[in-house]
Amino acid sequence: MSLLEGLNPQQQAAVAHHGGPLLVVAGAGSGKTRVLTRRIAYLMAERGVAPFEILAITFTNKAAGEMKERVAALVGNRAKAMWVSTFHSACVRILRQEAVKLGYSNTFTIYDQADSLRLIQLVMKDLNLDPKRYSARAVQSLISNAKNELQGPADYLDGTQNHFEQTAAEVYAIYQKRLGGANAMDFDDLIMKSVELLRRFPDSRARYRSRFRHVLVDEYQDTNHAQYALIRELVGDDMEGIPAAELCVVGDADQSIYGFRGATIRNILQFEEDYPNATTILLEQNYRSTQNILSAANAVIAKNESRKEKNLWSEAGSGPLLTGYVAENEHDEAEFVRDEILRLRQENLSKPGDTAVFYRTNAQSRVFEEVFMRATIPYKVVGGVRFYERKEVKDLLAYLRVIANPDDEVSLRRIINTPKRGIGDRAIDGVSEIAQREGTSLWQAMSRINDSDIPARSIAAIDTFVSLIIALRTLSEAKTKPSVIAAAVLEQSGLLDELKNSGDPQDEVRVENLEELVAVAEEYEESEVDEGEEISLAGFLEDVALVADSDEIPEGEDHGGVVTLMTLHTAKGLEFPTVFLTGMEEGVFPHSRSLGEKKELEEERRLAYVGLTRAQRQLYVSRAEYRSAWGAPNYNPASRFLDEIPTDIIKWNHGGDRAYSSVKTTRRFNAPPPKPTGKKSVTMELNPGDRVTHDTFGLGTVIAVTGEGDKAEATIDFGGYGQKRLLLRYAPVGKL
Ligand code: ATP
Ligand code: MG
Repeated sequence: MSLLEGLNPQQQAAVAHHGGPLLVVAGAGSGKTRVLTRRIAYLMAERGVAPFEILAITFTNKAAGEMKERVAALVGNRAKAMWVSTFHSACVRILRQEAVKLGYSNTFTIYDQADSLRLIQLVMKDLNLDPKRYSARAVQSLISNAKNELQGPADYLDGTQNHFEQTAAEVYAIYQKRLGGANAMDFDDLIMKSVELLRRFPDSRARYRSRFRHVLVDEYQDTNHAQYALIRELVGDDMEGIPAAELCVVGDADQSIYGFRGATIRNILQFEEDYPNATTILLEQNYRSTQNILSAANAVIAKNESRKEKNLWSEAGSGPLLTGYVAENEHDEAEFVRDEILRLRQENLSKPGDTAVFYRTNAQSRVFEEVFMRATIPYKVVGGVRFYERKEVKDLLAYLRVIANPDDEVSLRRIINTPKRGIGDRAIDGVSEIAQREGTSLWQAMSRINDSDIPARSIAAIDTFVSLIIALRTLSEAKTKPSVIAAAVLEQSGLLDELKNSGDPQDEVRVENLEELVAVAEEYEESEVDEGEEISLAGFLEDVALVADSDEIPEGEDHGGVVTLMTLHTAKGLEFPTVFLTGMEEGVFPHSRSLGEKKELEEERRLAYVGLTRAQRQLYVSRAEYRSAWGAPNYNPASRFLDEIPTDIIKWNHGGDRAYSSVKTTRRFNAPPPKPTGKKSVTMELNPGDRVTHDTFGLGTVIAVTGEGDKAEATIDFGGYGQKRLLLRYAPVGKL
């Protein structure tokens, strides 16, 4: 098949474009992502470009995976060597190679929002800042904005305009130092440090510029300044002896919805100024939606003032009218959605797997969940309290992170007394003071704590903890699989015992979650083997750290047969035959925070445009006359976006006159099969003097054996590798 087949002339021109920078701007559903995918395949198949010369940036890891798959379907397995990833993943890959130049070790830890907030709180506490006067979250967001503008602490301080910002600048400076000391980077650092690397080190710059001859970016409208700078550095400019890479970006200014993260449509509006030799291609045909859906979306977005007029049309026919529904309250709204899903299924118009329910904020999912659960409609919530945010999962991950990087202060503090092992806050403060006084990390201070005035009992407890971590680190050093290390942590740390011995029924679920994380590690191992990559604990942690909300979108053509529930932000780039856009009320959507602000209202409107344009055939919009907030009913008027939909393409229903509620729920959906539980293994018997061999450390002699059964450890002398303490239950040693 020709790689230009099934494309319109403008799309073909974009796919085959040769040379200078290319900008494809077009409305929703016009095939931008399709162009990007085809272009990658075309580069390889028709222009002899090697896969490793291609860097493609997508909005989510999930989108990256899909794009890789589609390209592989077009050009075969060679596609595997391409870098198709999010900005963050690409930066991690670069920094794992180069972080040493910036003063980090390659095993640096990635802090998520919660970790970063924790560290900011610690810093603010040390500065004696009153948490009631200074919100750590507000400080976090100022720091994040500064980083997105590539401002370090000093630059940021220069531009501060009030006392609060000056305080934030002070916190920023110390926070950044503490991050460095913990050998950790937060999410914004990943981009900022990569830019710094490319700007400061000509050899690094040359390496990546000569490698990536083609840079492609999807959803370009949502890049912030730091990401924009990264692209510029990577593409280069014919100076320094390396010709500029070919750049192709696709985006839609009307879908820019990350202003609050510093994304600026300026990047798309001024592309032509920034790249004077750029070519711009417009796409105008929408292939996704019916004309009625498009007309609704076009009418809503037309109300934004600062935008270029677009002329988006569809050949798909007018299609069914939109359905509007005015519910009494949020429960009625959810029941309406339920009844429609059941009716569409009964009448063979749409399956649950073809359906998405969108809302403005995560908290709105709960009512839908309850109603769907009772009706046994299979569903999946994307985002919300995510698996990786659960306490027990974070605990286990914190152990793994400390094993990979013991200087990681936030993780170390999290596990130091979890489960309880008699190391109290006073003792931790004591160690922390030593660390600050000596300018070392918390871990280093803990490792040689004996000559301090901390009570002997605490010292003994800290020593035991340090030995545990050292033993677990030996596993990692011996290249033990992450799943095995995770299992070892669960057993050796006491985490599992604590949960198993508790009477709290919730703890059973927590045990399952921990087992699930071990299963995630196993999946990681399998996929790395498939891709021919090396398995490592750091690699696994990196995978976990980069999982974005939208990575949980159910796989496959019909999304695993389940209704997908998600916020509008997560819905970007996706499409569904049937879409419910719910909670369309002033104060909910548009969000209350945006009501007085023109700029923010325009962003809310773009979000509405994104939501409406996800639908292929059936589009429902609904609102509730009142909705409970903090226990009290809130009466909200209809969202202004509803009033903007032309009245001749929508049919309205009201809660009172609902005719659908008679649909019976008949079919039951099966519960998932129970998960396999922990595996048992046998511990080998060793005695001092025994000769052993180890997969990584080679030949050794047993010096001492301590503990019994699952907890048995042996100290073994491996000659050149020195003496190691091995947990025998997990150690791949053989007796000679
Ligand atoms: P968004 O702005 O929402 O990200 P997009 O511009 O990236 O949308 P795609 O997702 O690439 O649009 O395409 C929308 C749908 O139209 C997809 O199902 C795609 O396969 C289909 N499509 C795109 N171009 C064509 C074409 N020339 N012929 C047939 N179908 C097409
Ligand atoms: Mg797209």
